[in-house]
Amino acid sequence: MPLFEFTCPHCGESREVLSRAADAAPAPNCPGCGRLMTRRWSPVAAIGLGSTGCAAPRGGFS
Ligand SMILES: [Zn+2]
Repeated sequence: MPLFEFTCPHCGESREVLSRAADAAPAPNCPGCGRLMTRRWSPVAAIGLGSTGCAAPRGGFS
């Protein structure tokens, strides 16, 4: 079953929802503020790969 991740645009809460449908999952209500959450499109494959874009400063800034 596909796993969808929803985030609340109002308070930033996130929640994962298992759906039987391949491409459709009903948006749940936010457990924090009760409003409708929106689906987040963030494939897991995008995490952990080396980035060639702008380098974020590490450490510093104190
Ligand atoms: Zn919320």
